[in-house]
Amino acid sequence: MPGQAEVWLMDLPPRGVDHVGRPVGWPGRHLVAKAAASVSCRATGQACRPRKQLDSRARCLDCGAWWTASQVAHHAAVARSNVSVGIDVEDRRHRPAAFRRASRWCGVALSAAEQWTQAEAVWKAMGAGRRTPNDSEIPLNESWQVGWQLSRDSQWWIYTTGQPQPWSLAFPADDGNPPNLIFRSTTVAADNLTKGA
Ligand SMILES: [Zn+2]
Repeated sequence: MPGQAEVWLMDLPPRGVDHVGRPVGWPGRHLVAKAAASVSCRATGQACRPRKQLDSRARCLDCGAWWTASQVAHHAAVARSNVSVGIDVEDRRHRPAAFRRASRWCGVALSAAEQWTQAEAVWKAMGAGRRTPNDSEIPLNESWQVGWQLSRDSQWWIYTTGQPQPWSLAFPADDGNPPNLIFRSTTVAADNLTKGA
């Protein structure tokens, strides 16, 4: 049976800007909690209770499901699976220095925001999010495509799209088929922060 990952893509209401004019982000735990509240935990039937581990990956205390989240400006992506997954969403800002650095980490020349999301998603799924990658440590292919592709080392299925924002999900490639993606939805309202998280 192919694996499965549930994905939430969320539009975030603006929270204003900080003292240098950057948009104020939403706490990642709040976004995960919103997604968790919209589905039930397989162990308890209530919401999952994801907690961050030392390696920065989050797992549900009850069912062990893995949770991952990412946000940029007013967009967020969250995913849940029975295996360690990583998700990343980016915008199309031009960041040549960052791309040069990431190209070293991936061992291939990155030029598209979609490739950046692939690199981040794989790195998160590997559970190494707390440290800087070594050269060529993130096994991306030289070219990316919309939809599923295997990583350079065939250890990861990577799903990538540019819509509505560039985002990718990385999933362990333990079997020959890519996992099923199930899209879920929830909404994040501007007043959620004061009420909930
Ligand atoms: Zn759970």
